[in-house]
Amino acid sequence: MIPFADLTLLHTSIQDKIDAALTQIIQTSNFIGGEIVTQFEKEFTKYIGIEHCIGCANGTDSIEILLQTLEIGKGDEVLVPAISWIATSEAVSSVGATPVFVDVDPNYYTIDVLKIEDAITSKTKAIIPVHLYGQAADMDAILSIATKHALYVIEDCAQAHGAKYKGKKVGTFGICASFSFFPGKNLGAFGDAGCMVTNNDTIAEKARMIANHGQKGKHNHIIEGRNSRLDTLHAAILSVKLPYLDTWNAQRIEAAAKYSKILTNSPIQIPHILPNTTHVFHLYVIQTQQRTALQNALTQQQIQTAIHYPTALPFLPCYSEKNYSEKDFPIAFAMQQKILSLPIFPGISDAQIEEVCKTIVATL
Ligand SMILES: *Cc1c(COP(=O)(O)O)cnc(C)c1O
Repeated sequence: MIPFADLTLLHTSIQDKIDAALTQIIQTSNFIGGEIVTQFEKEFTKYIGIEHCIGCANGTDSIEILLQTLEIGKGDEVLVPAISWIATSEAVSSVGATPVFVDVDPNYYTIDVLKIEDAITSKTKAIIPVHLYGQAADMDAILSIATKHALYVIEDCAQAHGAKYKGKKVGTFGICASFSFFPGKNLGAFGDAGCMVTNNDTIAEKARMIANHGQKGKHNHIIEGRNSRLDTLHAAILSVKLPYLDTWNAQRIEAAAKYSKILTNSPIQIPHILPNTTHVFHLYVIQTQQRTALQNALTQQQIQTAIHYPTALPFLPCYSEKNYSEKDFPIAFAMQQKILSLPIFPGISDAQIEEVCKTIVATL
């Protein structure tokens, strides 16, 4: 069997360090906040190359809290790519604003920078580029449009820990950025977790307040916030895992290169890498007209695959009242029928990759 991802393999390789971190927490019974959370936040700012990191409960909350921090809400519009995890658009709706979808680039699958300006209205307040599948969106173009129209840029980095654009890590380009530490992400906790990063002191302070009941110091509730904190347990695990992130990303990149080398002359479309970027291959997504046949053939060989995502955001039932059709988002519409995510994870072996490719070549 070739799994789609293998977290057990990853965690058993560092089991003694995780055990030590958990034992420390059991001995102190310090489960919320404290030095362990502060320490991880510090380590993550260093890793990303940014001033502030504020841990929170998950990567959906982090987008939502950042929107609240920027006072985006009812009557406002926020541009989001037509292909992402639902969290990106859901967070916009949760604060009372309206997500406005922009089709994706046919080569890189991130927001199509040529279509952004058409979607801007007098109500548009922000753009949320998603560094989808581990690949940076075209930040130069996005930032220049944002500057021209006075829009905030909030980066959704949930799939792209350590990805780079022109040598700089994603998360450092917008006014602020969101990360998820969902277990399956390139850096994952042992449950739900996330964080917000920014170079802006005011945004950092306000986001931290909102995530912890609007408090500035204990029992001093300046505003009504919410409970969205990074659990100490998760922070401890993330601190153990962070030093390995670059190695694990390198293993993903190597695996992707191996897939692409073998499959380059096959009928499937392999992922394109945007020039001057480091794609960290959270997912290795191919396109084929014969997806169902291929997925069935792989399943038959006990090779797990997945689809990210079977329905592009505008076509989900939750947005059905908008009555979007194929012509509104032709690239996303075509993609949702052709994309397939192949197994990729740190530690995937050459033999496993060759086995997947062999089945693909034999099927198509
Ligand atoms: C995972 C993910 C999120 C949300 O993260 P959670 O921690 O699961 O809430 C947001 N955006 C994208 C693109 C994601 O992949």
